[in-house]
Amino acid sequence: VEPTAHAAPTRLQPIAAPGGPADALDLALAIDIGGTKLAAGLVDAAGQVVTRRERPTPPATSGQATVVTAALFDLLDEVLAADPWPGGRAPAALAGVGLACAGPIDVVAGTVSPVNIPAWRGEPLVAAVAAHLDRPTVHLVNDAVAMTVGEHGRGAARGADDVLGIVVSTGVGGGLVLGGEPRLGPTGNAGHVGHTVLAVDGEPCPCGSRGCVETRASAPSMVRDALAHGWRPGGNAPGDAEADGRALAASAMAGDPIALAAIDRGTAALAAGIVSAAALVDLDLVVIGGGFAAAGDVLFDPLRRHLDDLRGMPFLGRLRVVPAELGRDAGLVGAAQVARHP
Ligand SMILES: [Zn+2]
Repeated sequence: VEPTAHAAPTRLQPIAAPGGPADALDLALAIDIGGTKLAAGLVDAAGQVVTRRERPTPPATSGQATVVTAALFDLLDEVLAADPWPGGRAPAALAGVGLACAGPIDVVAGTVSPVNIPAWRGEPLVAAVAAHLDRPTVHLVNDAVAMTVGEHGRGAARGADDVLGIVVSTGVGGGLVLGGEPRLGPTGNAGHVGHTVLAVDGEPCPCGSRGCVETRASAPSMVRDALAHGWRPGGNAPGDAEADGRALAASAMAGDPIALAAIDRGTAALAAGIVSAAALVDLDLVVIGGGFAAAGDVLFDPLRRHLDDLRGMPFLGRLRVVPAELGRDAGLVGAAQVARHP
């Protein structure tokens, strides 16, 4: 039976306002902060990203919080200056500001402590962004929740009520839409599938625990695994090829057995996290985004094989895993939606 029984529109559905001169200024500012990149954009009421800018997340270490914050502020200034705002109404004219950030976050305190941005620990980012933009309200949301909300609103998870979104990139983020609504939890951290524990005797995780799904399934984890087994980025033409997820996927697509084996082990860990989450909250759909997920079949084929191997109980049989459709826009679309409909 196809899991499409829940077709009722939900409150998360973006308002598909017809475009027109009157709508041109109805823009929300969306921000998406991850361990790899900082992105920001203006998103219209129909959930379309009308302008976006991004830059790499500065490799700042503990004690260098202002390095990352300054890069973010530069990016925001660039976005707000980039578009023609008839009448010069930015940023006071913004419909809202949505701030998606890698977890963990604290939506009550307005602080962020992204596992993969060590410079920020308990960083009061909501107040800082609000002050920089001179806006009273900034809506903070976990980045993977924003991605999930975006995909649910107008991407791969349209029409599905119970969805886990996963961002496979520097880390493994996750967010839940349950019963058609985002499930945030009291601190905004529900859905952290990357830090569900896979092996109690596993290797240490940057989060402070050990054996987390992220220690096996993130792009850097799979790269480390491959390197430890003798993988050379760039194959027979090494040199300036960087040892990253993109290079690993390229090697796997070229048939490199070491790359394929590392991805196989990594996707087995990801499948274990997915099956565990689905067993807990009874999911229809898993949407996977993030830089590494862009690798496509070379990631999804082994992932689906491991899922089929690990799913036991009959209700897990209907679970489907699909790639995100909105690409690098998903987090921005979701953050804007959260800002408009908090
Ligand atoms: Zn962890």
